[in-house]
Amino acid sequence: MESKSDISIFAKLLFLQSLSVLSTVAQDFDFFYFVQQWPGSYCDTKKSCCYPTTGKPSTDFGIHGLWPNYADGSYPSNCDPNDSYDQSKISDLISRMQQDWPTLGCPSNSGTTFWSHEWDKHGTCSESVLNQHAYFKSALNLKSKLDLLQILQSAGINPDGGFYSFNSIRNTLTDAIGYTPGIECNVDENGNSQLYQVYICVDTSASNVIECPILPNARKCASSVEFPAF
Ligand code: 5GP
Ligand code: 5GP
Repeated sequence: MESKSDISIFAKLLFLQSLSVLSTVAQDFDFFYFVQQWPGSYCDTKKSCCYPTTGKPSTDFGIHGLWPNYADGSYPSNCDPNDSYDQSKISDLISRMQQDWPTLGCPSNSGTTFWSHEWDKHGTCSESVLNQHAYFKSALNLKSKLDLLQILQSAGINPDGGFYSFNSIRNTLTDAIGYTPGIECNVDENGNSQLYQVYICVDTSASNVIECPILPNARKCASSVEFPAF
């Protein structure tokens, strides 16, 4: 026969187990990288690019993604196959997505391939805090708050195919954002280092910019960096 104390031990174990489940959910990532890409540098490579079916994107940084990350530099991916991308959940955001999250992938499409890849790979790993609608809306709101092109241009760093010192780009962005971003370069067809992506760290609510717990392990820039036209 079960005694009262057996039941209470069982209840305690159950309670402890539910606590540990809760804490795993609450800690399923440490911060986000909010990543923006310069379209001129995506296109100006051996691989080239395709414009979306909605037309040439505007001359601006575009969103690449909002990526949950761990503080040690590793990251989760493809966390929930049962919550795959459903565009009907974000129909009110599509015109903003076409403007601020344009795809440059080939073959040309409206953006669905890129957005669904980003949700399935990254977004499903932060669904404990953001559902699909909140995830895309948070990224769009971050983009409006962090106008990288305007920051660079106000320091005389223009997308004119010219070369700028890497330090001037990094210092300009750091001063304006208040935190050091990760900066990634790729190479153009002639082998020149060019400004490709900027990684800004954001807290787990996807609303506040924070100091990066760890800078991304992205492709390094040369000391002189091209800022291609687009
Ligand atoms: P690449 O190899 O081009 O740097 O990265 C390929 C893809 O891996 C990225 O588009 C992104 O989906 C993922 N990835 C690369 N680095 C990171 C990172 O530091 N954090 C996260 N969360 N994803 C990353
Ligand atoms: P990630 O690098 O985030 O894992 O994945 C990017 C994926 O989305 C790649 O398969 C890439 O071909 C596709 N893609 C479609 N459009 C774009 C774009 O505009 N920029 C980048 N970086 N990848 C895109």
